[in-house]
Amino acid sequence: MTAGHSPRPLPAGLDTEIVIVGGGLSGTLAAILLGRRGYHVTLIDRHEIVPREFRVEKIAGDQIDKMRRIGLLESLSAKASPFSEIINLRKGRLLDRTRELHYGIFYDDLVGTMRAELPKTVQFIAGRVGALEANRDRQRVSIVGQGDITAQLLVLATGMGDILRRDLGIDRRFVHRRQSMTFGFNLKPVGASSFAHQALTYYGEGTSDGIDYLSLFPAGGTTRANLFVFREPDDPFVKAVRERPRDALVRNLPGLVETFGDFEVTDRVSSWLTDITVAENCKRDGAVLIGDAYQTSCPAAGTGVSRLLTDIERLCMFHVPQWMGSPGIGAEKIAAFYNDPVKQAMDAYGLQQADFRRSLTIDSGLRWQARRQVHFSKRRILNEIDRISPNLAAVLRRLKRSGAEAAT
Ligand SMILES: Cc1cc2nc3c(=O)[nH]c(=O)nc-3n(C[C@H](O)[C@H](O)[C@H](O)COP(=O)(O)OP(=O)(O)OC[C@H]3O[C@@H](n4cnc5c(N)ncnc54)[C@H](O)[C@@H]3O)c2cc1C
Repeated sequence: MTAGHSPRPLPAGLDTEIVIVGGGLSGTLAAILLGRRGYHVTLIDRHEIVPREFRVEKIAGDQIDKMRRIGLLESLSAKASPFSEIINLRKGRLLDRTRELHYGIFYDDLVGTMRAELPKTVQFIAGRVGALEANRDRQRVSIVGQGDITAQLLVLATGMGDILRRDLGIDRRFVHRRQSMTFGFNLKPVGASSFAHQALTYYGEGTSDGIDYLSLFPAGGTTRANLFVFREPDDPFVKAVRERPRDALVRNLPGLVETFGDFEVTDRVSSWLTDITVAENCKRDGAVLIGDAYQTSCPAAGTGVSRLLTDIERLCMFHVPQWMGSPGIGAEKIAAFYNDPVKQAMDAYGLQQADFRRSLTIDSGLRWQARRQVHFSKRRILNEIDRISPNLAAVLRRLKRSGAEAAT
């Protein structure tokens, strides 16, 4: 699907109007949106075919609304595994059942599906970018062994491990080092042809186990497990999950097998240690950072895709069209993106949710003990209301959701 805009002639002396370094979800979606508006875009990524890497594996809530708004929900939903009803457990018993559309999809499938939507105005180059130069009028990107590309605007979407930003004098601040650990693996049922439920979330028992939640859901023709914990990488539990994931889950989450069915883990456990970082000194000529390259998110909070979708919507639909209307991309134009109130609210929400999940899971102070009690009691009460009056429960859930959306 392309927008039908035809590209304008390129300004003299430039290879392209916009060069995007990094073709993960942020860079690919930005390329689609800008290409659809008729800009000449060059998208560069290390990988021609996206490898299987452990990142977001389900899309839900505001992410679905935003994907719909940018016209890409249909292609996502054609490739993903939809599911709605989730059984939620805590302390071995039912907490509640939630009904909300989710799409399970591996990250390589997600980005690959989006790359198939790149319009003709976007040129994709497989290669590793080794150096960058940015200034007001002309940006230079050097691809190792393949020469240079020049452009009017440089978009850096190189993800959380980015070091290229240093070429531009951009630093990053650690908001929280070793914020959380995430594990991902595939399950198959044992002693039955399928699991008892399509999707299940099991919340940790208490502050001592450091487990935020285990999420089981369909993706890519299998049942996927994502486990989010607030533990140090050298913790014995972390080693146990890597080496004997089934035993570690069964020992720490009583009632899991009884509710979901017995299982075996069918592949190697992937794990990821996340630091929360924010780019600093980035209001500079010629270049803009988006997605994880600008700010990372705690996987347990599930805000990474919400953040990057806000970045690309605001950048591509609002700021870039204004910037390209007059010569030069000076720091004052770039600053307008970082100062955008919609972006700032989303970034702040991402940081706040990262703190919230961590404190809700492991803070043993009195205030958080009380908050935890209230948080889970509210859900149990709502579940009871749901049993007696599903309509009233639906209204209360809608109110709660609209409160959370207002915060973003
Ligand atoms: C384990 C895990 C679980 C997560 N779960 C969730 C979740 O449930 N919900 C949620 O919303 N978010 C989640 N997230 C966050 C989400 O996955 C990220 O926010 C999102 O993937 C960031 O996309 P990005 O395009 O900014 O970065 P990336 O996906 O990291 O893409 C960066 C791209 O840049 C390319 N690149 C880097 N350097 C170069 C170079 N020098 N030259 C060329 N190319 C380069 C890389 O090849 C890569 O393709 C999770 C993250 C992790 C790690």
